[in-house]
Amino acid sequence: MTARVTAASDAPRNVAAGHLDDAAAVPCDAVASDRAYHGHMDVTRRVLLAAPRGYCAGVERAVDTVERAIEQFGAPIYVRKEIVHNRHVVETLQNKGAIFVEENDEVPEGATVVFSAHGVAPVVHEQAAERNLFAIDATCPLVTKVHNEAIRFAKDDYQILLIGHEGHEEVVGTAGEAPEHITIVDNPEHAESIEVSGDKIAWLSQTTLSVDETLETVAVLKQRFPQLIDPPSDDICYATQNRQLAVKEMAAQCDLLIVVGSLNSSNSVRLVEVGLQAGAKNAVRVDNVQELDLSILPETGTVGVTSGASVPEVLVQEVMHWLAENDYTDVQVIEPVKETLTFSLPKEVRPPRSTTK
Ligand code: SF4
Repeated sequence: MTARVTAASDAPRNVAAGHLDDAAAVPCDAVASDRAYHGHMDVTRRVLLAAPRGYCAGVERAVDTVERAIEQFGAPIYVRKEIVHNRHVVETLQNKGAIFVEENDEVPEGATVVFSAHGVAPVVHEQAAERNLFAIDATCPLVTKVHNEAIRFAKDDYQILLIGHEGHEEVVGTAGEAPEHITIVDNPEHAESIEVSGDKIAWLSQTTLSVDETLETVAVLKQRFPQLIDPPSDDICYATQNRQLAVKEMAAQCDLLIVVGSLNSSNSVRLVEVGLQAGAKNAVRVDNVQELDLSILPETGTVGVTSGASVPEVLVQEVMHWLAENDYTDVQVIEPVKETLTFSLPKEVRPPRSTTK
């Protein structure tokens, strides 16, 4: 089955780049076409493929960190918590020599341990030092930015309302920077009942929340606490925002939206919610193509496809093949934003600078 690939007519609003080549990312027998998409085409089955989707710069960096640590220091390399929230990534790294543990005390004394992209509380670094572990911190720099905001606000004696999901690793790590100062706020309903007092109150957020729901939560908080201070910059990261933006652009046209991502991936779960709120008639999250069932595929219509920030492109391609096999062959890429960001690796695994000029 051959698929036809077209691009959205809107020029991307940001600078080009990104690590994914969308023409290359659709099924390998796809035929590229320069036919522009103008919101309506005379096809009975079509696929809208979101871009950006999949790996963000922080996930790319974290996965590379583990792979390079295995190459440089030899297997096994211990990884505290899932390096990123994706089952396929974790299993692939296990096969290469990573051992995933929940806590530092499961790591043999003196061994190498990598901390996940979600970040850790200072106490986790202290525990690692006590066990003489060689710790490599793969925390995403955008999570570190939120940690630093928490530290600064706490130093200035602010009470911090941290919007996020209780128990999520990132929230546990950020709250651990200033436990005496931080209160977690889950959603707008929770914001209605939260109790905090004093003149100095600030809010921060988890990086992978729904942009719209977070704005709602902040609106409730501001109504209740007019003295509330904003963070110095957006905490919801560029990758979360961009993936939600692409889904919003296409959701109203989708009879079905397929989000590839694991259940414990916050940003993947948010994409399903955002898609439904933006008008998708149905939306499902699947870890991989094996979880898709023909009964959910509309006889005719439009299927949207996207993936969370921790999802390797190969899993999306398998879904695209499945759709093509079921006569969903007309593929249009919806790309409201292009991504360029990359992060340098932690210094312990950074390749030496080339001396050639
Ligand atoms: Fe970093 Fe955002 Fe990716 Fe999380 S989703 S790893 S905060 S870039």
